[in-house]
Amino acid sequence: MSINNNLNSISNTIPENIALIAVSKTQPVASILEAYQAGQRGFGENKIQEMAEKFDILPKDIEWHMIGHLQSNKVKYMAHFVHLIHGVDSFKTLEEINKQALKHNRNINCLLEVKIASEATKFGLSFAETEKLLKSEELKNLKNINISGLMGMASFTEDNDIIRTEFKNLKNFFDSLQEYKSFNVNPTILSMGMSGDYKIALEEGSTMIRVGSAIFGSRNYN
Ligand SMILES: *Cc1c(COP(=O)(O)O)cnc(C)c1O
Repeated sequence: MSINNNLNSISNTIPENIALIAVSKTQPVASILEAYQAGQRGFGENKIQEMAEKFDILPKDIEWHMIGHLQSNKVKYMAHFVHLIHGVDSFKTLEEINKQALKHNRNINCLLEVKIASEATKFGLSFAETEKLLKSEELKNLKNINISGLMGMASFTEDNDIIRTEFKNLKNFFDSLQEYKSFNVNPTILSMGMSGDYKIALEEGSTMIRVGSAIFGSRNYN
């Protein structure tokens, strides 16, 4: 199957109000252009430098999503163009994003990454840590960020019941966050679901799916 065919078959089976992010990490520019020509505009990368290099040479109406774990010292390389940062899991990172956004006189949309998988290696905040961050007085000082929702990754398992439960828990938590709404907290996006589990994620209330290998084929690394 071609990239074009893969994209069409996925977009034809997901509801219209669901955002499909094509995860293009490690993929060559030619493959991204093929997806672009098929109409895809949202792309996801997990390394800031790789994303910045691709931004420089690709069409400027692409919306770039940073889905990887963030190193604060690299935020400056994407602050002028990034559309949505999915993997924010500390106040310190939010402060750095705010600082860099201010330099470019813009507002950067962020998702808080919440740890829902049982594996010890996954990044992310606990539910309690997320609430603590949203309640904190210091958050009000960050005028150039907008917390637009949450991102989560389910356990890497064949057991769909585990995956479903993890997504369900995140959706319930997401719904409970409406009480924290403020000038820089507007939780409308729930980013969950990848190639292997996006169908379950959509059944459990995802609004944004991040799909790589089901569009571009399998990756050699990462
Ligand atoms: C790589 C990656 C994806 C896409 O994974 P596929 O299984 O190829 O669809 C989605 N989200 C994150 C955070 C990733 O790192």
